[in-house]
Amino acid sequence: MTIAFDRMSGPDWQHLMLAAADAIDANVDELSRLDAAVGDGDHGVNVATAMAYTRRHLEELSDPTPADVFKVVAKGFLDEMGGAAGALFGSLFKAVARSFQGALVTTAGQLADAIEAGCEIVTRRGNSQPGDKTMVDALVPAASAGRAAATDEATSGEVLDAMALAARQGAESTVDMTASRGRARYAEERSIGVQDAGATSVALILEAWAAANTVRSTE
Ligand code: ADP
Ligand code: MG
Repeated sequence: MTIAFDRMSGPDWQHLMLAAADAIDANVDELSRLDAAVGDGDHGVNVATAMAYTRRHLEELSDPTPADVFKVVAKGFLDEMGGAAGALFGSLFKAVARSFQGALVTTAGQLADAIEAGCEIVTRRGNSQPGDKTMVDALVPAASAGRAAATDEATSGEVLDAMALAARQGAESTVDMTASRGRARYAEERSIGVQDAGATSVALILEAWAAANTVRSTE
């Protein structure tokens, strides 16, 4: 694989985001079940609603830049999902769009930068830390793993794989935590034993990106 081939264009990101929308659709009930155990049980439907907007509008874009793709995704979360989690996912993808602004293709290093920027804004706006049992428990390790993987010789695929693995482990680590942010904090001890819904969505999205990219780069 040459480095030039590894660079990701807007249509590549369009393809990865559509794969993420499919992954969320396939897990709507599971995400809502996780949220119902500690919150109001709407997380699966919330994320799927934002993704439905994303799918509709992404399919209309012809030859977008990477930033164009993430502007659409951010808008879906900000305008269609609502609530605390909608604003946080919206900020995440808006930060990615801002980070990719002006680039026709993204490199492994730009990908690590973008996810770090997104993670930073989510922790700041959500006022949450790893250990609070939120999406941050998947995002922070994903951003760190992406940064560590993005050496000069790294491919975007290696960075995506590292982020996906760390996000999944981070989401799984929330099972034993007690929630202290969002609606789930009212569940207190009841939240122990249940994986956080938002962290699970982050893991599903990053795993879908990694899997779709593997298919893309072997085609
Ligand atoms: P709502 O809580 O408004 O019903 P959702 O059910 O869609 O929204 O999303 C719940 C998810 O949002 C949680 O599982 C958690 O990951 C995330 N979340 C909630 N509050 C925060 C916060 N302050 N910081 C980070 N993530 C949060
Ligand atoms: Mg909810």
